[in-house]
Amino acid sequence: MNILDDFACLNTAAILAWLREEDPERLKSLWKAADSVRKANVGDEVHLRGLIEISSYCCRLCGYCGLRADNKGLERYRLSEDEIMTCARQAVDYGYGTVVMQAGEDYGITCEWLAAIIGRLKAETPLAVTLSLGERPDEDLVAWREAGANRYLLRFETSDADLYALIHPTHAGRLSDRIAMLRRLRELGYEPGSGVMVGIPGQTYANLARDLETFRALDLDMIGIGPYLSHPATPLGQGEWTREVTPEDQVPNSEMMTYKAVALTRLLCPQSNIPSTTALATINKARGRELGLMRGANIVMPNLTPPKYRALYEIYPAKACIDETAQECRACLHGRIASIGRTVGKGPGQRIGKG
Ligand code: SAM
Ligand code: SF4
Repeated sequence: MNILDDFACLNTAAILAWLREEDPERLKSLWKAADSVRKANVGDEVHLRGLIEISSYCCRLCGYCGLRADNKGLERYRLSEDEIMTCARQAVDYGYGTVVMQAGEDYGITCEWLAAIIGRLKAETPLAVTLSLGERPDEDLVAWREAGANRYLLRFETSDADLYALIHPTHAGRLSDRIAMLRRLRELGYEPGSGVMVGIPGQTYANLARDLETFRALDLDMIGIGPYLSHPATPLGQGEWTREVTPEDQVPNSEMMTYKAVALTRLLCPQSNIPSTTALATINKARGRELGLMRGANIVMPNLTPPKYRALYEIYPAKACIDETAQECRACLHGRIASIGRTVGKGPGQRIGKG
């Protein structure tokens, strides 16, 4: 029997059964299937996308995130143009094909300022440029695309509308519809990426199964899946803003549940780029990155943010890799990738079949 026979029909019931599966032998067959689909569709190369956390200012009040506007205990920073260009040149020197500029939803990052930096990155380097800057107005997205940005990452966090509304308040009276925004990003010519957190308080197994089916429906370039990690200076971290679900229905924010979600996502979206996330590396610092890569993932995002700012980008506590220099981060990831018999990808690492 082919190892993929068990996975030929991944309907909602089958996804739910796999999310609840605990038998180690059955789970081994899930990892094996995800790894074989990964190999057949995106190959053995692991693409490195250099992460530059360009600002920790944020106007939003997401109930889960340490960067939320009213976390007054956090010292904020915003990189200068020179600092961003220095990180980007480091990315080129290290052979990374892409830089990801990520930040809180920070309107101190003006449309024109960032458009000029994107223009410089495209003119002065061969890098693909990914943005992850929250729910910016349409005119900003248009301008940045025209300046040359290639991709945009915006996690929809959960496909359950009630849970999303509870943990992600609207801002300035604007509706927050990240799924609609992902469709708009594609229309504008971006390669859209998204993702969810696993184990948000109030998230049920049915919610998570629907998240994975939503990935399939959206046909995404990149899909980031990490465990929800509690931050004490947030409403969710303080046990507030939660909805009642039974303990049997609540998805655990565990390493194992994250691997299941990653592996099932690979089976549902064979050609998408799936990172082995920093959140996963945070809950298993010894082997989380490698196990993610062995269970469906094909991307890692080494951190290029200048070390003096790293600890200030505190989405959740005890984040992996905050003390390493960019050089140490690169060497460590190269070693981890080689240790599992994989190779480091060259070039921008765009989605297979998308030119
Ligand atoms: N501000 C942008 C946004 O929200 O899309 C980008 C930066 S935001 C920090 C990036 C991602 O961090 C979010 O999409 C969310 O999934 C993740 N994140 C935030 N708080 C988290 C937490 N407590 N545990 C795990 N992931 C978290
Ligand atoms: Fe801001 Fe993004 Fe954190 Fe929400 S998840 S508070 S938008 S940085």
